[in-house]
Amino acid sequence: MRRVLISTVSVAVVFAAACQPAENTASVPAAVFDAATTEQLSTNPLLAEWTGANGGQPAFDKMDLALVKPALEAGMAAHLAEIDAIANNPAKPSFANTIEAMERAGDPLDRAMTYYGIWGSNLSTPEFRAIQSEMAKKLSEYQSRITQNTALFARIKALHDTEARLKLNPHQSRLLKLVYDRFQLNGAELDAEKKARYAAINQELAELHTKFSNNLLADEEGWVTFLTPKQIGGLPASFIASAKAEAEGRGKPGMYAITNTRSSIDPFLTYSTERGLRETVWSNYYSRGDNGDEHDNNAVIAKILQLRHERVGLLGYKTYADWQLQDNMATSPAEATALMEAVWRAAVARVGEEVADMQAVAAGEGARITIEPWDYRFYAEKVRKAKYDLDSDELKQYLQLDKLREAMFFVAGELFGFAFAPVDDGSIPVFHADVRVWEVTDKASGKHVGYWYLDPYARPGKRSGAWASSYRSHSTFDGPETVLSSNNSNFVKPGPGEPLLISYDDADTFFHEFGHALHSLSSTVEYPGLNGGVRDYTEFHSQLLERWLLTPQVVDTYFRHYKTGEPMPKALIDKINKAATFNQGFGTVEFLGSAIMDMRYHSIDPAGIDPRAFERQELAKLDMPKEIPMRHRSTQFGHIFSSEGYAAGYYGYLWADVLTSDAAEAFAEAPGGFYDKAVGKKLVDNLFAVRNAVDPRQAYRAFRGRDATIDALMRDRGFPVPAAGEGSK
Ligand SMILES: [Zn+2]
Repeated sequence: MRRVLISTVSVAVVFAAACQPAENTASVPAAVFDAATTEQLSTNPLLAEWTGANGGQPAFDKMDLALVKPALEAGMAAHLAEIDAIANNPAKPSFANTIEAMERAGDPLDRAMTYYGIWGSNLSTPEFRAIQSEMAKKLSEYQSRITQNTALFARIKALHDTEARLKLNPHQSRLLKLVYDRFQLNGAELDAEKKARYAAINQELAELHTKFSNNLLADEEGWVTFLTPKQIGGLPASFIASAKAEAEGRGKPGMYAITNTRSSIDPFLTYSTERGLRETVWSNYYSRGDNGDEHDNNAVIAKILQLRHERVGLLGYKTYADWQLQDNMATSPAEATALMEAVWRAAVARVGEEVADMQAVAAGEGARITIEPWDYRFYAEKVRKAKYDLDSDELKQYLQLDKLREAMFFVAGELFGFAFAPVDDGSIPVFHADVRVWEVTDKASGKHVGYWYLDPYARPGKRSGAWASSYRSHSTFDGPETVLSSNNSNFVKPGPGEPLLISYDDADTFFHEFGHALHSLSSTVEYPGLNGGVRDYTEFHSQLLERWLLTPQVVDTYFRHYKTGEPMPKALIDKINKAATFNQGFGTVEFLGSAIMDMRYHSIDPAGIDPRAFERQELAKLDMPKEIPMRHRSTQFGHIFSSEGYAAGYYGYLWADVLTSDAAEAFAEAPGGFYDKAVGKKLVDNLFAVRNAVDPRQAYRAFRGRDATIDALMRDRGFPVPAAGEGSK
């Protein structure tokens, strides 16, 4: 989806729009703007057309917080005026004067939202958060005014009901269906009183979602554990160096800072020999948003759930999950739950084995302990060494970020025919000196495809984790628009002249996010609205790309020792492959703990819910292994509470992984393996380039000749494959 940040309802209804040559809009009366809007449209740099080669790029060098509010307000007013002109057009509804006109509208706001998204995710400050809190409500109100525009929906419905007569091509037909469904699912058919309540709920939700993420960010920034030189036992040298720099940056020279983010706690918990400190760091991290202070998210969650439940009730749905799964690949909450349960049993059984292995290692070392959650990563690493003789730190010495980036470009070249060339520094504006930009072209024709931005390093005000976003998506219906795609990570910036060595998991994530970027870049759709994601399908493309990380072509050339430049020894590669199913119990259970809780939260009537108690009680019912917390505990589960992006949809990662494993086997079985030209072409044509222009189930069948089954996923994780007929989808 192009505009995730504006999405206060489940599906963004703000359509990306192309530049609008006046002659193409002749069938729609001109929109009328008030004086203030007109003034902003012509003077505010955040609303201005992008300049530069190939359709221009955002003017990140002109970002100024003082411009945000007026830009958003004028952008919304302008878009609403355009929508009114479309809705009140005296001419009979046509695909061109309604759906295409909607696709074309809202361009200035789209541009302003690009900057707004950057501030929100990459450059957040208390000043910006204050603006965000204020604007969340206004953006929601604006969105409701579009989805609840009776005259507009009447036109969409008229087209939908007479579609057979319209002679649409398949993509146009798909777009009409998607637009119609979105409006209907967002209350377009409600009576006036219910519409008002619906919009009021969305406004309140928008504010609560913002509050949730700001509380979480405050707990990530506010809790730092400082270590003395005596407390760094076991930690790898590279981690010590960055923790030292981090402490210096926070005014504590000579100490070492463990920040309250996943990229900092993960290595600490894996290597630190200080068990007491591991407990402290673990507890700080897993109690984010749950400390009973002003940043506590429990009451926020309860209110969010109640409002969501009430809102879908207005539309006649029994639960939020029933409503949310209307347009997903899984057809019902029951179908999604069945998949999770089929995997859950095998994963929990595996955790029992993993803990037994760890307990044995601890006993062998004379440690008289019972494995606690803050011991899991530490002893798992020891088991990894003992059982597979695989040392994560040794592995890391062959994983340099720059080389991995080159590896991704190589894969993109082989599979998608893309070439990446760095643009000259300063020729394309960036929002931070660390961001770099590459031009993407088609290798065979030299044709411009788009630009790719990389923002690799952590900084205060940047949200944790890694993600991909697009500043502009592909379309052709109104003249060609090329893609501006971005990948963002939180690697700790190395000292000057030092190589950035990353863990194997981080290398995997780096490929993952690049998969999202390639999905954007490969789009060939005609309409911007067909670039949107389907929640339980959208992680498939990124997860699949991870499979190229361990291909011999990548390993042999790009996994190089950072000092000697030697290729990774064959023995080490064999060990990685042998250890592929290692710790799958942990990974699967921590994920499913969150995914199942998400579905339970959204499958009940949440009146009077106490999230802390509900979490405890439901995890107990599940027999959640006591050594593993949810990957995202409720009060920190931004996927489902900082927006509706993954609400009742976190299972989608697993759903997509079923497709991933199954599709990967298609490559593994092909004569050319992962670089087989025929399978590669089928993949790009059927599953990447079409974005959401083809129903995902149909698209998958066109690629594979059948539906995916759960079997390949179970094999990949080293779990028993269910008997025929069980768990297929
Ligand atoms: Zn992803």
